[in-house]
Amino acid sequence: MKTGNFKRTLVTTALPYANGPVHIGHLAGVYVPADIYVRYLRLKHEDVVLIGGSDEHGVPITLKAKNEGVTPQDIVDKYHGIIKDSFEKFGVSFDVYSRTSSKMHHETASDFFKTLYDKGEFVEKESEQYYDEEANQFLADRYITGTCPHCKSEGAYGDQCESCGTSLNATDLINPQSVVSGSKPVVRKTKHWYLPLDKHEPFLKEWILDGHKEWKPNVYGQCKSWIDLGLQPRAVSRDLNWGVPVPVEGADGKVLYVWFDAPIGYISATKELTPEWEKYWKSDDSRMLHFIGKDNIVFHCIVFPSMLKAEGSYILPENVPANEFLNLEGDKISTSRNWAVWLHEYLVDFKDKQDVLRYVLTANAPETKDNDFTWKDFQARNNNELVAILGNFVNRAVVLTHKYYDGAVPAAGELTDYDKETLNEIPAIVKRVEDALDIFRFREAVREAINLSRLGNKYLADCEPWKLAKTDPERVKTIMNIALQITANVSILIEPFLPFTAKKMQDMLNLENLDWSSCGNLELLSAGSLINKPELLFEKIEDATIQEQLDRLQQTKVDNEAANKVAAPAKDNIEFDDFTKMDIRVGTIVEAEKVAKTKKLLQLKVDTGIDQRIVVSGIAEFFKPEEIIGKHVSILVNLAPRKIRGIESQGMILMAEDASGKLEFVAPASDVKPGSEIR
Ligand SMILES: [Zn+2]
Repeated sequence: MKTGNFKRTLVTTALPYANGPVHIGHLAGVYVPADIYVRYLRLKHEDVVLIGGSDEHGVPITLKAKNEGVTPQDIVDKYHGIIKDSFEKFGVSFDVYSRTSSKMHHETASDFFKTLYDKGEFVEKESEQYYDEEANQFLADRYITGTCPHCKSEGAYGDQCESCGTSLNATDLINPQSVVSGSKPVVRKTKHWYLPLDKHEPFLKEWILDGHKEWKPNVYGQCKSWIDLGLQPRAVSRDLNWGVPVPVEGADGKVLYVWFDAPIGYISATKELTPEWEKYWKSDDSRMLHFIGKDNIVFHCIVFPSMLKAEGSYILPENVPANEFLNLEGDKISTSRNWAVWLHEYLVDFKDKQDVLRYVLTANAPETKDNDFTWKDFQARNNNELVAILGNFVNRAVVLTHKYYDGAVPAAGELTDYDKETLNEIPAIVKRVEDALDIFRFREAVREAINLSRLGNKYLADCEPWKLAKTDPERVKTIMNIALQITANVSILIEPFLPFTAKKMQDMLNLENLDWSSCGNLELLSAGSLINKPELLFEKIEDATIQEQLDRLQQTKVDNEAANKVAAPAKDNIEFDDFTKMDIRVGTIVEAEKVAKTKKLLQLKVDTGIDQRIVVSGIAEFFKPEEIIGKHVSILVNLAPRKIRGIESQGMILMAEDASGKLEFVAPASDVKPGSEIR
């Protein structure tokens, strides 16, 4: 889609939910593609604004506040700060990054509701909802848990079962329980307002199914299946005390449902940005684009447009280039399982390498299907593409210019056929980058942009100026001039994707204010102009660095397994006599050594109080022999001797095994004489 008939573009990005920091999935799915697109339009001098903000209402925030013993405002203040900072540091160039707890937003959302209410666009309905009599409150969504009626999992929420993914009504839960007091809730009648999506169905059919066949197949397909299923009225209010109060009489204790209020946040943020906000939202020559993840498609393609249509004075989105999900090392990214690469942590571990992550997430973006982020791929793309192609080319061009000409750009002489052939490729590459960006194919676009540096790299490798420097200095001037012009072009073409690198390159070349129309210009650097000293653009990432990240994820897995491990069920009952047959004593380890040619076995000499005896124990993975001398242990002394690896083991040391398989000695809590009986 060309920007053609539109005078300006409004780009919105899904509002991240302010109950945790942001991770690579957020960046890959929404913010990097939106930022690339907006930077591209800005380079073309188009009128464009990038709108963002934190979503700060809803039940998960109030629950987190309750669990941590703080206020919801404390929670959103904390995470809004972290999120905003991460975006800034990754170069996501918001024109405004606001928040839905702001006064402007409360007013805007409240007015929006009031307009629809006054126009009779809502349906009022009484419904039965759970109420906590101890806490005196209705239990919205996640304030209630119980057994899932579909998969029978425990701990399903009032709005969804996370085990089987089914959307639920709280009243369907088996054995419902209040999260607030733990009590069994009662059913009470409560009034809510509903947006009758069924009423908007004919319009949505025409507008999306007939009118926007150019939308990405994943987006169009999801809209179609929702519409084909038949749309239902959707509640726009909740019984809750955190959010935008419902601005009508008789609505005490009710707030706007977070899904009604959040997208209005785009409007409030634009208002904060400019007094001319209406030209972006209410004029037919403006184009609105929503960048979101696939979980938000229904809200941005069906619910929000129905709201805007009902209000009547707003434009509708022209396109919703939603992405699929990014997984991490083969597993779904999850905040609750801490399975993520957090942006604020990446910034510490990979200082000044924002562009590397932006690049990898774009080159591997989940545009048409879910995709996987792996650290090995991250390393490979950095080392083989950014370092070996882009970095290498730019470095050679700049270093050789300093070596041969003290940093002065040489004039080009007569061009050879090969020179012309190379230069002719440039406009073709630029065109392919543009074509891909125009239809939101960012993977393709970044690949083409890198192809320009690949072209430059090949040109230098083929021409070998370092070999000709002595024999044909005139030819070398031409080669270096061309290499430098390509470098300048690369710096423009990669700016939307790698803004930090583009800036460094233009600083090196002493260029500024280059715009998109300069792409393809082969005289960006005039002969005789001086360029600056080379600066390192990318550096190789070593195996050890990647291993650290993999180890951290492995540890997360172990921690999760341990946290989720359920104790094994009890064994069958035994008689007391069976127990008394076992003679367990406190012993002390007096000698310890590894059993040769084994990984797990230690040979111990234990003072049992009765005697000193040899025991072979499978604990070598967890304990070093020298560290356990003198340790108290519990030893089963009347276990029949067994030969292990040719050593007779006389007894068994008792060990506790935790969820991760780690072993610990079972020993008396304070000093006890060897030989004391354990019973
Ligand atoms: Zn379920």
